[in-house]
Amino acid sequence: MSEATEHMDKPTSEVADSAEVVNAPGRNEMPVDNRLDSQTSGGTTNHLSWGARSDVGLVRGHNEDSFLAKAPLFVVCDGMGGHAAGEVASRIAVETIAERAPERADEILLGAAVEAANDAVLEGSLTGKGKPGMGCTATCVIVENNLMAVAHVGDSRVYLLHGGTLVRITHDHSYVEELVDAGEITADEARVHPSRSIITRALGSDPDMYADHFTLDVATGDRIILCSDGLSSMVSDKQIEELAVSNVTPQTAADTLVSAALTAGGHDNVTVVVVDVVEDGLAEMHRAELNKSVLTWIGVAILSVALVAAIAVALVRNSWYVGNNNGTVGVFRGINDEFLGRPLYELAESSSVKVSDLPVTTQQLLEEGIAVASMSEGCDTVERYRDQIVNEKTRAAETAEATKASAGASQGKGNPANGAAESGDSAPAEAAAKGQQAADQATEAAKAEVSASTAGKEGE
Ligand code: MN
Repeated sequence: MSEATEHMDKPTSEVADSAEVVNAPGRNEMPVDNRLDSQTSGGTTNHLSWGARSDVGLVRGHNEDSFLAKAPLFVVCDGMGGHAAGEVASRIAVETIAERAPERADEILLGAAVEAANDAVLEGSLTGKGKPGMGCTATCVIVENNLMAVAHVGDSRVYLLHGGTLVRITHDHSYVEELVDAGEITADEARVHPSRSIITRALGSDPDMYADHFTLDVATGDRIILCSDGLSSMVSDKQIEELAVSNVTPQTAADTLVSAALTAGGHDNVTVVVVDVVEDGLAEMHRAELNKSVLTWIGVAILSVALVAAIAVALVRNSWYVGNNNGTVGVFRGINDEFLGRPLYELAESSSVKVSDLPVTTQQLLEEGIAVASMSEGCDTVERYRDQIVNEKTRAAETAEATKASAGASQGKGNPANGAAESGDSAPAEAAAKGQQAADQATEAAKAEVSASTAGKEGE
């Protein structure tokens, strides 16, 4: 430890000589009920169950320990400085920690609350609240679900009973603890060492004092024990473990531990707070997380389906094809298919162009739908078909005309004897003229039909 650290010597036997001994030892089992200057406190939440007892002991004339048991915060402070000082210091510390402690298991803020309590005790000394030189230890925990934040100064302790095994989780700020750390004495020797009351860090002496703080995991079934040195200096860790394991409720555990300290001599004030972790909330948290992830996945699935549907609709809305509209060529928006019995297309533009006038291969393509980039491209395709049909019919008419002409010419030459006999050279010319007339009529008919189609188309 550093030279600068101020040692505080707790008055182990300060009042032993003068004060009246309230409860004399001498019995195998010291009862704790109905004793003077003894306080208890218990309670239960959904997550925690606790019991506490503070006793003046068998030697001291007054109780300088203070404690708080109010979930999720549990505090033990062991005062020093003599009558009307130690108990004032420990009470100021407990009250300040209760005011300043966070609501959650935040070790940094809990440590800051202990440091604020140090300031409050120092201020109390200066302003006449209590006495100059008064001080105290401060050991506190906040249990939130499966986490326990710990802040700690001095030689009060926190033990954790997990799976039937007791582990001390705080490090005493004491002279004998340093000897133990240095390997000079054992923990059992420290407990009865004459200098066991010298503590190396406390509230009320150094404005720059800092609190140890850390966070531990706790689980359902764990038992947390906070105590002043009135327990740990009188009762071995092994016996604390046995008693902690064998008592069912936290209150009987606290009572039995205080009784054991009294039975061992009760040299000091003894305070024990026992907190059981009834439900660490992990199952609940896992359920909540599971529900959350299930809901998230459902949300993702719904969004995916909606996105796919939106993309499909956009595709359908922006697709065009030319197809067979009940015998005529039409331009359609969408795709030539059905989904759940509903067509994925709609007629955008009809025409008078007959599918049956188009080549068979084109007819087959139209049955399936000929994809086009836009409605205007579809209309262009329809116009191309119309021109194709007109050209085809014109060519057919011209072919027919040529055929008739050659047929007429061959007829005229067919009966030279008769023709020559009846009308001379005029007969072949007349036949040719008739052939020409028939061809002209065929062409006109074809053109009329096409123009009728066009007029019909334009009339739509
Ligand atoms: Mn003490």
